[in-house]
Amino acid sequence: MDYIREKAPPVREDRLKACNAFGGSCCELNRIGKKGCLNGVKRTFAQTQGCQLNLSLAILNTIRNAVIVVHAPIGCGGSSLSTAGISKNFQKLRDPNAKGLIWLNTNLDDNDVVGGGEEKLRSAVLYAESEFRPEAIIVVNSCVPAIIGDDIDSILNDLQKQISAKIVPIHCEGFKTKIMASAYDSVYHGILRNLLDKPEDTRKEIYEDELEILKEKYRKSRTVNILNVSSMSRQDEEELTRLVKALGLEVRIYPCYASADDFAYVDDAALNVSICATHDDYFVEHIKEKYGIPFVLRSIPIGIKNTDQWILDIAKFFGLEENAKRLVEAEAKELREALEPFKEQLKGKRVFLGGGEIRILSTAELLQSMGMEVVGLKGYHYDHFAEPLLELVENSENIIFNVATGQPFEQANLLKRLEPDLYVGHTGTNGYTAKQGFPIYPLFGQSSIYMGYLGAYEIVRRIARVLKNPIFNRNFIGNSRLPYRDEWYGQNPFTYIDDSAAL
Ligand code: SF4
Repeated sequence: MDYIREKAPPVREDRLKACNAFGGSCCELNRIGKKGCLNGVKRTFAQTQGCQLNLSLAILNTIRNAVIVVHAPIGCGGSSLSTAGISKNFQKLRDPNAKGLIWLNTNLDDNDVVGGGEEKLRSAVLYAESEFRPEAIIVVNSCVPAIIGDDIDSILNDLQKQISAKIVPIHCEGFKTKIMASAYDSVYHGILRNLLDKPEDTRKEIYEDELEILKEKYRKSRTVNILNVSSMSRQDEEELTRLVKALGLEVRIYPCYASADDFAYVDDAALNVSICATHDDYFVEHIKEKYGIPFVLRSIPIGIKNTDQWILDIAKFFGLEENAKRLVEAEAKELREALEPFKEQLKGKRVFLGGGEIRILSTAELLQSMGMEVVGLKGYHYDHFAEPLLELVENSENIIFNVATGQPFEQANLLKRLEPDLYVGHTGTNGYTAKQGFPIYPLFGQSSIYMGYLGAYEIVRRIARVLKNPIFNRNFIGNSRLPYRDEWYGQNPFTYIDDSAAL
C-alpha cells in the first residue's frame, strides 16, 4: 500500500470495497461479503449520519501541543464542544501541563462561497502560530472549501515557509464518502505525510557512544507501539500495557493523546500493534512500507478469546509464546471464576448491539460466552476485517445484521420486532433507543474499562447491574416516542435498501 504521494487518501468504498447498506442474517452477510458483492448496495431513502470530518476530529482533538483549524462554516466541527472537556482531562493524564483542545474555525459564510475562503485560512493559520506557538497546526478541510475549490495545499505549502509549527492538512470533506471510517485514513494520511520527519541533530550525543547505541537497539527491539483509539479509556490503555509488559516488553501509545512531535519517533519500535483493524490498517501498512516495521492487526482485545489471541499474536513475533500461554491461561482462569456468579442472571437474556463492526462482534462473542442470546447487530459499515470475528459468533444464521451508519429508522423498526432485553450501543444512539424503552449499556466509554481481562469483567458486571433493574428505561414506553408513523413499524426494516445493482 502506498498512497502517501497523493494529497488525499482514497475513500474506503474504493480502497476496501466497504459496504454501508445491508439487511439480512450474519451468515448471508459473510457469504455475500466473501463474494465481493456488497460494495454497490444503496439506500433509496437515508437519514443523516456523522461525516468523516467529525470522526477525524475525534482523533485529532486528542493530539497534544497542536492547534486544530477547521476550514469550514461554523457548524462543521461543532461537535468538538462535546469532547473538549474529555480531551483536556485525558491529555492531562499524560502531561499535567497539557493545554487541552485548542480549536479555531475559519467561519466561512455566503461571501466566502462566492469569493473563496483562502484569506481566512491564511489568517487563521498565522493567528494559530503567533498566539499559541504549537508543535503542529492541523488544518481540517470541509465540504465547502472543497466544493468552491480553495487550494488549501498551495496555501499551506506557502505558509509552511513562514512558520515553525508543522502544518498538517487533513482532507476529510464529508461529502466524499458514506463510510465514516474513511476518516481514520484521512487523519493517518496527514500524519504520515507531515509529522514523521525527525528534527536534525536530536540525540546525536547518544549515538556517538557505542554502549548507548547498543542499549538503544535493544530497547527498540523490545518496544511495541500500541495504537489506541479515541473511544478507549485510560484504564483500557493501562490494562493493555499491563498485559504486554507482563511479557517483558516496553510499550508506547499512539496516536491519541500523543504530542505532535512524538510522531517523529514512531519508528523507534519493533512492532506496531493495532487494537482495531477498522482504525489502523492504513497506518500500519504504510509504516511497514516506509520503515519495514511489521504489525499485528488481527483482533481487538475485547472478551476472553480475542484478548488471548491479541496477546499470543504479539508474543509470537518476539518468540515468547510459552510465556504468553502461561499468562493467558492464568488470566483467563481467574476471569472465568470471577464471571461465574453472573451467568445465572444473564443466561438467555436477549441482546442487540450497534456500533463499529469490530467492537460489536467482539462484544457479542463475550456476551454469548455468558449465555446471552444475541438477536441482532448493527454495524456502521462492513468490510473483510470483520470476517474472522463474524465467524466467532455462534448461531449466526439466526442473527440479523444491519449495516447502517446512522439510519435510526431502520434500527427502531428492528428493535420493535426483536424486543431485546438489552441494547448495547454506540454513543449517539443510546438516547433515541432508550425512548423505545430498552435498557441500555454503552458499547464504549472513556471513563470505563472495556478491554483485556479486566475490561471483560467490567462489561459483564455492569450489564448485570443494568439488567437487575431496568424500570427507568421501561417507563419511557408510553411517555416518549420516536418520530415515525405506526405504519413504518409494519414494513420490512430493509425496505429502502436497494441491492439490485450489487447482488
Ligand atoms: S458533511 Fe461537510 S458540511 Fe457537513 S459537517 Fe461534514 S464537512 Fe461539514
